Amino acid sequence: MSDLPEYKLEGYASAGDVLQLHPDGVLRRKPPTPPPVREDLGTHTCGRRTEDGVPPDGRPGPDTWRERPGELPSCSYCGSMHPNEFMRIAEGGVHELGPTDKSYKVYVDSHRPSKFYFQHLTLEQRHRFIELLNAGTMKIGFPGRFYSRPFFVQYSKPAEGA
Ligand SMILES: [Zn+2]
Repeated sequence: MSDLPEYKLEGYASAGDVLQLHPDGVLRRKPPTPPPVREDLGTHTCGRRTEDGVPPDGRPGPDTWRERPGELPSCSYCGSMHPNEFMRIAEGGVHELGPTDKSYKVYVDSHRPSKFYFQHLTLEQRHRFIELLNAGTMKIGFPGRFYSRPFFVQYSKPAEGA
């Protein structure tokens, strides 16, 4: 036992992690390989970069859409699903959209990635989302409505006497 070479681990590691022995004699966790970029979806600037309360983390843009095997494309910056996929799901009215306590976030439990950030919707898509909301065709999870109003949505009171 004592004849085996010994190395110092820098940082932490969990079962299944791949470690690399560096020339300085230190073991470090091999950085995960990012999922491949979906070139056909182009680049974008994630709306979460410029949002109040989200400090810029120094990662250079532009952002891309990446796709893990068996999953939908996700934003390389925030991990959100692609707005077109989200709108397809919202239009379908089959899969449940899970309200959150954030005005910019929604869960789609049937798909991975399972979160969507509204900042990714184009203006057109925001209009369409409001149409769907008004039509009542979206399947919205408990409590059956977006209790935190999506930031681009304004609820109007019924007209006087209506
Ligand atoms: Zn994003």
